[in-house]
Formats: sequence, C-alpha cells, structure tokens
Amino acid sequence: MSQLIDGKQIAKDIKDELKKEIQQLKNSNIEPTLAVILVGEDPASQIYVSNKKKACAYVGIRSLSYELPGDVTEEELLGVIEELNQREDVHGILVQLPLPAQIEEEKILMAIHPEKDVDGFHPINVGALSIGKEGFQPCTAAGIIELLKRSQITIEGKHCVVVGRSNIVGKPVSLLLIQENGTVTICHSKTKNLKDICRQADILVAAVGKANMITSDMVKDGAVLIDVGVNRLENGKVCGDIDFENCKEKASAITPVPGGVGPMTIAMLLYNCIQSAKNGEELFV
Ligand code: NAP
Repeated sequence: MSQLIDGKQIAKDIKDELKKEIQQLKNSNIEPTLAVILVGEDPASQIYVSNKKKACAYVGIRSLSYELPGDVTEEELLGVIEELNQREDVHGILVQLPLPAQIEEEKILMAIHPEKDVDGFHPINVGALSIGKEGFQPCTAAGIIELLKRSQITIEGKHCVVVGRSNIVGKPVSLLLIQENGTVTICHSKTKNLKDICRQADILVAAVGKANMITSDMVKDGAVLIDVGVNRLENGKVCGDIDFENCKEKASAITPVPGGVGPMTIAMLLYNCIQSAKNGEELFV
C-alpha cells in the first residue's frame, strides 16, 4: 500500500506554524495584510477567493477584499493596484485569475509591485526563481516542494518528470526541482513517447488539466505521484490528472485530489504574505 500524501494535514501544520509567526509580528505592531482583488462573478474564482480569505482569517492575516464588476476597465483595475502598491499597511496583492477579455493579464501582473507579488508571477520574481535568487515563489510549485519535503521524500538525484509547462505550475515546479538537485524532464502537448518518459520518473508531477490522463501503465513501480490537476467531471465530482484508483498500488506515495496539492497552494500564499510583512524590503536589495 502506498503512502497517501495528506496535503490537507500538511497545509494545516504549516498554517498552525504561521499562526505563531503572525502573533509575533502583531506583538511588534505589524499586521500582515493581503489585498484580494476579484473581477467579475466567475463561480470558481469566487470559491477560490473565499477559500483564500477564510485561510487568512484562520491564521490571523487581515484580508482586504476588492470586488470589481466584470466590465471594469483596465485603467480602473490598474488604479486599484497602484493605490495598493503605495499603501504601507498592505503586504501582499493578489489578483484572482482569469481576468475578463478586455483586460490584459500580463499588464496587470506587471503592475503589482514585486515586493507585494505574493503569487510570484511578476517577471522580477520569475527571474529570481530562474537564477536561484530569493523572491516570491509561485505558490503551487512551492507547495509541491514542501509536500515532498514534509513527507520525507528525497528529491536529490531523483528523475523528476513534470507533465505540463505552464508559467504558473509546470515551469516553476521544474525550476524548484532542479534547485533541489533533481534531474528534471519537462513534457508538454508536443512531447513524443510521453508514456515511456513518464515510466522513467521517480517523481512524476502531473499539471495538465485532463482527467485521469496518467494511467497505471505510465507509472514505474515505486514512483512518487504528485497530482496538480483539478478536473470537474459530469457528475460534479472533482478528480486529478492521475488515475488515482489504478495508480495508487504501484506508487510508493501519491497525492489525492482533492486534498493534495490544492490546500498547499493556499498555505504557501499565506507563507509568502508573512515573508513580505517580515522582510519584504530586504528581499530585493
Ligand atoms: P495550462 O496552462 O492549461 O497548462 C497545461 C499544460 O499541459 C501545457 O503545458 C500543455 O502543453 C500540457 N498538455 C496539455 N495536453 C497535454 C498532453 N496530452 N500531454 C502532455 N502535456 C499536455 O494549465 P495549468 O494552469 O498549468 O494547470 C494545470 C492543471 O492544474 C489544471 O487542472 C489546473 O486547474 C490545475 N491547477 C491546480 C492548482 C492547485 O492549487 N491545485 C493550481 C494551479 C493549477 P502545451 O504547453 O504544449 O500546450
């Protein structure tokens, strides 16, 4: 029987550790504050934002909520970001993606001050990650590394195969795995012989967005399986990119969906926000 990597419990452990740090910050008259901007009424985005605000409340981070109508202009949104960039009492700014079509996502992400970019999407932070310097790391990618470490899974020397090369998951997690001395292969939609490559993985990270696409014949005996995918099935249930039921016996460790990588993303967002409150000004000197 493989080890079930309990992301919910590990995320709770992290949040409980952060609670103590926040209390210390509050004792020094610093109140960590995250501004959360939601544009429009996309139901999934509303749930994500609500979960992030609940997590803030749990650890004691003050969250400021900005709910803008779906027809807000780019200029108006940039105005809100600029105001938040200037505010000394705001340590993190999060714009929930995706944004409506009239708004250029890249322009918005570029507008967030890198020292408040707790999602780690600003090119300054992306650049810092790529050359192994300090900066905010994208939360899902950082959460995956934390999951592995806290489950006593060694990355060094392992062949890590990452399926997916997006800027928010695939690329950053690949960079972090390299930093941890893994040997990394990155796969994408044009990769040939995906099955053969996946079968070589000691650690397989699936970040595609296709329900159950990693089947048991693509998995090496004893592999560690990390499932980032969130796919809603017709019956309303959520499943990952890895065929959990058929892969779990082959794997040495596996994350469930839900309850694996997802809760870690939020925990790392809180972590980044606290880092910003603690030493934001030191990060970029
Ligand atoms: P994305 O931007 O759509 O990227 C998907 C990646 O998968 C692309 O690089 C794509 O290749 C690759 N791909 C597509 N079909 C493939 C195939 N048949 N074989 C191999 N690679 C294939 O998605 P994302 O934003 O990275 O998200 C991936 C999944 O993770 C989604 O289900 C998303 O909901 C979930 N997610 C979860 C969390 C969390 O906290 N749990 C956070 C973020 C995302 P190309 O580059 O060639 O198109």
